[in-house]
Amino acid sequence: MSDVILDRRDLSFQLFEVQDTDSLFARPRFEDHSRETIEAALDTAEKLAREKFANHNALSDKEEPAFVDGKVVMRPEVKEAFDAYIRAGFLSSRARYEEGGMQLPEITAAACKGMFMCVNPSSTGYVFLTAAAANVIRNFGNDTLKARFLEPMMAGRFTGTMALTEPHAGSSLTDIRTRAVPQDNGSYRIKGSKIFISGGENELADNIVHLVLAKIPGGPVGVKGISLFVVPKYRLDNNGHPDVRNDVILAGLIHKLGYRGTTSTALSFGDADDCHGYLVGEAHQGLRYMFQMMNEARLGVGFGAGLLGYRGYRFALDYARDRRQGRHPDDADFSKPQVPLIEHADVKRLLLTQKAYAEAAIAMSLYGYRLVDDIETGNETTSKEAELLLDLLTPVLKTWPSEFGVRANDMAIQVFGGAGYTREYPVEQVWRDNRLNPIHEGTTGVQGLDLLGRKVWVNNGKGLVLLASRIMADVLATANENCKPMAGALQAMLPLIEKATQAVGNQMASAGARIALSNANAYLQLLGQVVAAWMWLRQANAAALLTNPDDAAFAKGKLQAARYFFRWELPRVKWDAQQLINGDDTFADMDPSWF
Ligand SMILES: Cc1cc2nc3c(=O)[nH]c(=O)nc-3n(C[C@H](O)[C@H](O)[C@H](O)COP(=O)(O)OP(=O)(O)OC[C@H]3O[C@@H](n4cnc5c(N)ncnc54)[C@H](O)[C@@H]3O)c2cc1C
Repeated sequence: MSDVILDRRDLSFQLFEVQDTDSLFARPRFEDHSRETIEAALDTAEKLAREKFANHNALSDKEEPAFVDGKVVMRPEVKEAFDAYIRAGFLSSRARYEEGGMQLPEITAAACKGMFMCVNPSSTGYVFLTAAAANVIRNFGNDTLKARFLEPMMAGRFTGTMALTEPHAGSSLTDIRTRAVPQDNGSYRIKGSKIFISGGENELADNIVHLVLAKIPGGPVGVKGISLFVVPKYRLDNNGHPDVRNDVILAGLIHKLGYRGTTSTALSFGDADDCHGYLVGEAHQGLRYMFQMMNEARLGVGFGAGLLGYRGYRFALDYARDRRQGRHPDDADFSKPQVPLIEHADVKRLLLTQKAYAEAAIAMSLYGYRLVDDIETGNETTSKEAELLLDLLTPVLKTWPSEFGVRANDMAIQVFGGAGYTREYPVEQVWRDNRLNPIHEGTTGVQGLDLLGRKVWVNNGKGLVLLASRIMADVLATANENCKPMAGALQAMLPLIEKATQAVGNQMASAGARIALSNANAYLQLLGQVVAAWMWLRQANAAALLTNPDDAAFAKGKLQAARYFFRWELPRVKWDAQQLINGDDTFADMDPSWF
């Protein structure tokens, strides 16, 4: 089968017709950019993704990295891809010109990244982790840390990791045990074990910079006692070159269901009491700093999940057009050839559902990236509002695409029938890769708790009010007759969200957080479905305005997917809302001994 990458017509539609990216070019920071410069950056990204990343996606899945003679060995194409990505400047695509960047708006930089994520999520892992770790050092590190680590990371000479998880502390980072003991020279000695650290060992560059969460003895209890450290694999000499091996040891490689091209490592820090670490920012503020990286990563996880949902969908589409099987129920003429799968209503159901999930997921991720642009370059009001919205929506933007991207991939396998279950076709790998996304960067369960336990209530619930007003603006702007029923259906959901939120608030006050949060997943799902429906209303409105005859089928496809979402998916929200309003206690009530 030919490979699948993001469709450029669809991507341009999402960027320019749905998200109004043009309006960003009026801002001073982006004044050199235009549709033409963005399309040119996307051309380069697409070419590089096809040539250097797509070529080994399946190979590095089959041949996982291995630990041989003290080194991690992986397919040589991974390093070629890593180097090519850095050379092309994509690691610093958002950075200012004076820092060697392209000064791209975040939404368009993300679209470029999407090209790579779509065709090879494992190999992109190394560059994205490096970029995210570098951003933390840029934002919170002192001048010495920046001088010694940031430049080599941005140049691709050092890679980066985020080392949070410990064998006994995954979702609950409060309970980490890694210790950082201060030394007279201002550095720290790190001791502890981390697990599942992506990219934790590799030979792609000269050094690895681990960002490690650890506790300084005597610090406050709980999350307030967590600090963040730069812990390099090799300590640097006075000239900033990797020198002595630091006391960080690969305890083992972890073998996984998917994302096999990215090393997953168990790391031991300080077995010989000689692991040097350097504090990032202030002591005890580590989780706050790390959250910057995690929030960035959460948006990226959601986007990646949507892109894999899309990838599976496009493979399934090609297969369904190609393979012939059976005839229509009303056709008994067996002398006629069999029809392509795509003609069967049930296959159309599977394809339309995947399209509806994947393209909503991509739209909501790009919306999230647009909020990042508004935070950084909008006027004071725009920036503040965008911050409120992004804070509220981050759990949704991470989780909805992750959950529905995997469901889409499940349906892609179904379209292939038996072939989908074999390794001869690509959709099983897509599903395996995507299955990680509801787990890492905060599981779906944890995101539900974060949303309903914290984010909804920040600033007296202002974020939710703002979200409703943004949705209403699109409802009121809906002019097309085909779209108006969708706008009406979406509007009708807003009072339900309000009621459900109030009900949980009342429960919180009367029965406490344990009971009130026991249906946090339903709330997360409800808000996710509403945001997805909103994204479909925006896409339908934009599609209804397309006048070029070449766009006719594309626009009809968008409108039909929106229709599917509003008729078949959105009504399910009512059920979740009702359970929340009723304060259903089925889960809270279930005693562990009854299982
Ligand atoms: C391939 C892969 C790559 C990873 N990369 C990294 C990395 O680079 N760096 C890093 O630091 N970590 C990484 N992780 C770790 C990942 O972030 C954790 O696996 C994740 O946070 C979940 O933690 P856990 O595995 O300990 O599961 P647990 O925390 O044990 O959770 C198990 C289940 O219990 C639920 N649960 C836990 N606590 C609660 C609660 N309070 N309320 C309700 N439900 C709860 C969870 O939702 C989940 O369903 C990676 C993991 C994988 C699999």
